[in-house]
Amino acid sequence: MSLNAYITDEEIEGEADGPLAGKTVAVKDNISTEGVRTTCGSKMLEEYVPPYDATVVERLKDAGATIPGKTNMDEFGMGTTTETSYFGATKNPVDEDRVPGGSSGGSAAVVAAGDADLALGTDTGGSIRCPAAFCGVVGIKPTYGLVSRYGLVAYANSLEQIGPIAPTVEDAAALLDVVAGPDENDGTTREEGADTDFASAADGDVEGLTIGVPTELVEGAEDAVVETFDAAIEDLREQGATVEEVSLPSVEYAVAAYYVIAMSEASSNLARFDGVRYGNSGGYDGNWNESFSEARSEGFGDEVKRRILLGTYALSAGYHDKYYKQAQEARAWVKQDFDEAFEDVDVLASPTMPILPPELGESLDDPLKMYLADANTTPVNLANLPAISVPAGDADGLPVGLQLVGPAFGEETIINAAAAVE
Ligand code: GLN
Repeated sequence: MSLNAYITDEEIEGEADGPLAGKTVAVKDNISTEGVRTTCGSKMLEEYVPPYDATVVERLKDAGATIPGKTNMDEFGMGTTTETSYFGATKNPVDEDRVPGGSSGGSAAVVAAGDADLALGTDTGGSIRCPAAFCGVVGIKPTYGLVSRYGLVAYANSLEQIGPIAPTVEDAAALLDVVAGPDENDGTTREEGADTDFASAADGDVEGLTIGVPTELVEGAEDAVVETFDAAIEDLREQGATVEEVSLPSVEYAVAAYYVIAMSEASSNLARFDGVRYGNSGGYDGNWNESFSEARSEGFGDEVKRRILLGTYALSAGYHDKYYKQAQEARAWVKQDFDEAFEDVDVLASPTMPILPPELGESLDDPLKMYLADANTTPVNLANLPAISVPAGDADGLPVGLQLVGPAFGEETIINAAAAVE
């Protein structure tokens, strides 16, 4: 049975030689591929074919990778299950009645099913780590500025990064080696980390490492998830790590702040999809307002519309201070909590997701419940830090992911610690 993990399965050949020669790397469908359609999981872009490659795609090709296709995703990255895709849900290869997580569900599913060696996803508020956790594979959300976003269709610029999904920590790190590093086409990229050999950091030596476990990120999780997480932490302790409880008091505001900021940025970013500049045209009868609204009514799904409306509201003159400004303040508190925690510990560990993968169809009617499932992943994006999700074991026969968060540009530390969890 097909998992419906690819939206388009047109192969793109890379160079003959390079560190990824002979490897297939699936690419999420919000990353531009020259001559191959890039839909963002939306009807709006059903026929959109970019005239250029994203920087990460260029780097994959130069490294010798073959891109087997473009993977399914929640529409414009807005979701946690891959069910908001216009192209239908993707199934979780571990249990086909369940969601693969999202929004990079197609990328995690193809890796877990062995339909691609590796994949790229994007993570605005957990969209690499959540599907990696639900499908039992490894996913890295890099530090903001490590990987170029040139050619990524923006959802919420201040939060998102492109990153690898792979069967092992070392494979994920090797893919990060290929895509990381500054890019003159993305002014937010930085020099830091450019010369690092991430793959060789995956040695799993945690002797002397101090791991902080934030109580706030464990207490909200389901019992079965916590049990598996605790066992993995115990194992790290036995391997020589020191484990401490820490507190991140402001993370209780993270989900609310994240959704206000993400929706605000989305409402602005998605303004370009009006049927004229980008997107399906609704025809040009009547005035521009009517024509734009027809294109947008037809082209966007419910979740995208909900977010454009809420984001526009949060940014509007009368409410800006009450919502957007407050959210930015909360974001600063969350960042400060992390900074303080990293004065005492090397990495922070928590369950990646507080829940096990839901059954298909279970979550679509309850957006708030799914927003709350991002409790452990969104704080990391608010603080622009690196994090990895690594399989920690099973609960009720379903995979549980363990998240390790590091200080900015601390990818080597989290990659090393994650290798000890495998
Ligand atoms: N679930 C989050 C959201 O819907 C995360 C999405 C993402 O990281 N792209 O916004």
